[in-house]
Amino acid sequence: PKAPGDAERVTPMMAQYIEIKAANPGSLLFYRMGDFYELFLEDAEIAARALGIVLTKRGKHQGEDIAMCGVPVDRAEEYLHKLIAAGYRVAVCEQMEPPAEAKKRGPKSVVKRDVIRLVTPGTITEDALLDARRENVLASLARVKGGAGEEGDGYVYALAFADISTGSFRVAETDSTRLSADLARIEPAELLVADSVYEDAELRPLWRTLPAVTPLPKESFDGATAGRRIAGFFQVATLDSFGVFSRAELAAAGAIVAYIERTQLGARPPLGRPQREASSEAMIIDPATRANLEILRTTTGERTGSLWAAVDRTVTSAGARLLARRLAEPLTDPKRVADRFDAVECLANETSLRAQLRDRLAGVPDLARALSRVALGRAGPRDLAAIGRGLGEGMEIAALLAASPAPAELTRAAAALTGVDPALAATLSAALADELPLNRRDGGFIRAGYQDELDATRALRDESRRVVAALERRYVEETGVRALKIRHNAVLGYFVEVSQQNADRLREPPFDAVFLHRQTMAGAMRFTSTELAELEAKISSAGERALALEQLLFDELVGAVMGQTEAIRACAEALAVIDVTAGLAKLAVDERHVRPEVDDGLDFRIEGGRHPVVEQALRRDGGPFVANECELSPPEGARAGRIWLVTGPNMAGKSTFLRQNALIAILAQAGAFVPATLARIGVVDRLFSRVGAADDLARGRSTFMVEMVETAAILNQATERSLVILDEIGRGTATFDGLSIAWASLEHLHETNRCRGLFATHFHELTALSQRLSRLVNATVKVKEWEGEVIFLHEVVPGAADRSYGIQVAKLAGLPHVVVERARAVLTELESADRAAPTQRILDDLPLFAALNRAPPPAAPVAKADPVAAAVKTALEGLHPDEMTPREALEALYRLKAAA
Ligand code: ADP
Repeated sequence: PKAPGDAERVTPMMAQYIEIKAANPGSLLFYRMGDFYELFLEDAEIAARALGIVLTKRGKHQGEDIAMCGVPVDRAEEYLHKLIAAGYRVAVCEQMEPPAEAKKRGPKSVVKRDVIRLVTPGTITEDALLDARRENVLASLARVKGGAGEEGDGYVYALAFADISTGSFRVAETDSTRLSADLARIEPAELLVADSVYEDAELRPLWRTLPAVTPLPKESFDGATAGRRIAGFFQVATLDSFGVFSRAELAAAGAIVAYIERTQLGARPPLGRPQREASSEAMIIDPATRANLEILRTTTGERTGSLWAAVDRTVTSAGARLLARRLAEPLTDPKRVADRFDAVECLANETSLRAQLRDRLAGVPDLARALSRVALGRAGPRDLAAIGRGLGEGMEIAALLAASPAPAELTRAAAALTGVDPALAATLSAALADELPLNRRDGGFIRAGYQDELDATRALRDESRRVVAALERRYVEETGVRALKIRHNAVLGYFVEVSQQNADRLREPPFDAVFLHRQTMAGAMRFTSTELAELEAKISSAGERALALEQLLFDELVGAVMGQTEAIRACAEALAVIDVTAGLAKLAVDERHVRPEVDDGLDFRIEGGRHPVVEQALRRDGGPFVANECELSPPEGARAGRIWLVTGPNMAGKSTFLRQNALIAILAQAGAFVPATLARIGVVDRLFSRVGAADDLARGRSTFMVEMVETAAILNQATERSLVILDEIGRGTATFDGLSIAWASLEHLHETNRCRGLFATHFHELTALSQRLSRLVNATVKVKEWEGEVIFLHEVVPGAADRSYGIQVAKLAGLPHVVVERARAVLTELESADRAAPTQRILDDLPLFAALNRAPPPAAPVAKADPVAAAVKTALEGLHPDEMTPREALEALYRLKAAA
């Protein structure tokens, strides 16, 4: 056979690269070369684009240039962050031996390398890659056949979800009708699904709502082996003590465990045992409602302006995360809600205890995330110190709580705080220095005085000068050569130096037995001695020994922490609970929120209700918020709640009123006090909120279609326990169509769903329905007319709006005067007694603009044909955003950019 030509020859390094790359499909490979992680070939092209870094070439592979780009190791996290955020996975491949080792095996040998970790959106733990205030959830969705008579598509679904950066781990069954609501609640950073589920056309649109979906072979979801896999992960013989799980739940949890093991390559994050959630435990809130109510983020994706931001007074990031979790899944059990209220009430009243707790909490580090890094072998000295400090503060906080009588929720938390052996915190603070390096390899983190051997070794290292100086003095005395010096350089290490004249003295007996000639310089001679060599070895190894001793001590401390992971995790959770409780108490005091009554009834009575976000915003911009009442409780003798039909001009405050009541329900069931003077709420099982098409940003599909799909879901799913908020339904189509749809929907909600509801509309015709529908109540937002202007009073009162004041609002918005005047004239005609065929009459009788003697508007400049614009336009027409993955979309964007 012919030897391959130069072009086809694969270098040993490239061969290694290709092998490792093939073993990690679906990931970009960060291939360690010295101080850089290098990416090659296609990976390099993707990364260079996504990171905006330079693409270079390095040699050839099969006759082609090898594309390459690299990121410096010490800045790798920053780049990883960008790639993960863009939805990529990264396999980090390290050098597993010093290059010198490889050289020993032969000149052509390649340094051993191995992938030490797969970084995926759902499995990161580094602070630099995480948002401190947001959970980072890895979820998996399992689907099994079965469930005859089930709602939905005849499959049983289960979700398992874990945050490996904090150790929470839960499972819940779900079905196809509420899957999207559950995913919106959990907000996974990454979702694992079986290939077959991934390909399911019905489910496909769901994937597009998630930042990253990872399809896995179906064996990963094998229900039969899942139990064993989970037991193995938790190192128990059977799952009996974990409670009872369905087959789908086991499959989902098993897939998570397997994926964590695969990506962490065997390291085990401190996951808690999977907690099973009943499907009716949380208020069901679908994605559109969440987005519309801006619970955790605004419609533009920011935290500022959300309900969460408005009510967050926590002082730790773990507290902020727990608060977000509570707002995302309000409870449906009045007893558990009351427990939370009791705790908040206690701290709202105990002003000084609250202040002391918050002071302490402010110094508590992120215990859960530090613990997770410790368990995964990614911890630095600062993580250990954080755990020590957190545990110490925890004990202080427990003592504060013990000093005063506290409700169950706080007593439970206090108990968890003292569950960790106090010796651990003491050991950590005794062992770790005040100033700590980021990396354990840097050394210098063990406190002086902690271990004798380390102290002695360090003394030897640090005192080398003194020891050498003493030896020098002795040599001077013994030889009588006063100019004898001990010096140091990189080549010889330590050596004795004398002038040429004195050199002979050292070469004579008895000194020739002590000094060994090493080097002759102009005017000087250099010697070593056994003693000096020994000292030298001792000194240079002292540094290394000190470092090695520190590594041993580090591992010991890690071991001590790992011995108590469960207790530390419980302590971290308890601290978060106390932080959330104290924060909500402070909120209640500062913002005059009251404790709601939540029970099993169907009431919904709010007095003095306010919108928590708008109220705070108005306070900053001046102007008081007008409080409003809302009464949806069943009327005397009725067994279903009321629906309020709210009319009133645009800008009057209808949406604000609707949303504030939904937000009050969420806050109440999340266990927070509410912005009102009184609130009585019968548990809401499902919350629906829809805004009209006109308020909906373009989504690719027709906005009217979206609105109807969402309305259909409400009419099909709302129960008498639900709260339904409909804002301007039917606005996206022709007037009569819209009115008819709104009319029929309202009847259906009242008669069939029998839910509590708020229905805002600009169709005044609907107010007539209250004559026929016994639980329908007309309400309107008051405005005052004054010299042709509207003044918004923001006050919701019984009755129907008499007019819509659209023209006045348009005038306020700055519509040109002539247009406003013309509109008034048209309106007068339209509203006049004869409504038979007004359009023709308006066309015939009313003077047109032209008649107002206005010059015609200047013609718009005609755009010159632009070939680039035309190309981009054609390209755009070929794109179908609904059918693209985020990655495809990104690539398309790059192509467009290149074309422009
Ligand atoms: P609509 O839905 O009727 O068009 P919005 O609810 O959007 O009106 O309210 C318009 C503006 O009026 C809001 O941005 C807010 O600043 C103000 N507003 C609404 N409700 C109140 C209130 N109760 N008190 C004070 N200002 C309010």
